Amino acid sequence: MTRDDEHLLRRAIELAAAARAAGDPPFGSLLAGPDGTVLAEDRNTVLSDADITAHPELKLARWAARELDPAAAATTTMYTSCQPCPMCTGAIERSGLGRVVFALSTEQLASLKPEASGTGARQEGPALFDEARVPVEGYYR
Ligand SMILES: [Zn+2]
Repeated sequence: MTRDDEHLLRRAIELAAAARAAGDPPFGSLLAGPDGTVLAEDRNTVLSDADITAHPELKLARWAARELDPAAAATTTMYTSCQPCPMCTGAIERSGLGRVVFALSTEQLASLKPEASGTGARQEGPALFDEARVPVEGYYR
């Protein structure tokens, strides 16, 4: 990690503080080009938008997929105040971003908040393969 990385990571931490000051969970992120130019930045707005998916990393991944061609997206780096959650990690992978630099790790975040309650939705499957494959077969050729 370079001094430029640390500079941009500090901006992501500022965005996290801004999110908290606005009454939202304390997370912020930005997307930078290969020369360190900030292309877009955002903060968590889960509460103010009443949207459980309004994580800054997801919003920036969606922005990149919409606004950048794949070659440009691959040259970008996301700087984020905390390691992306599984939802955002999936979106980042789909958006084709080249690199992610985070401040707090998931483990460090967990040490700063109470134990999460709930066990999550139980997933069941696979099932009905012969029927479910029909709309998929041939699509990816
Ligand atoms: Zn997330």
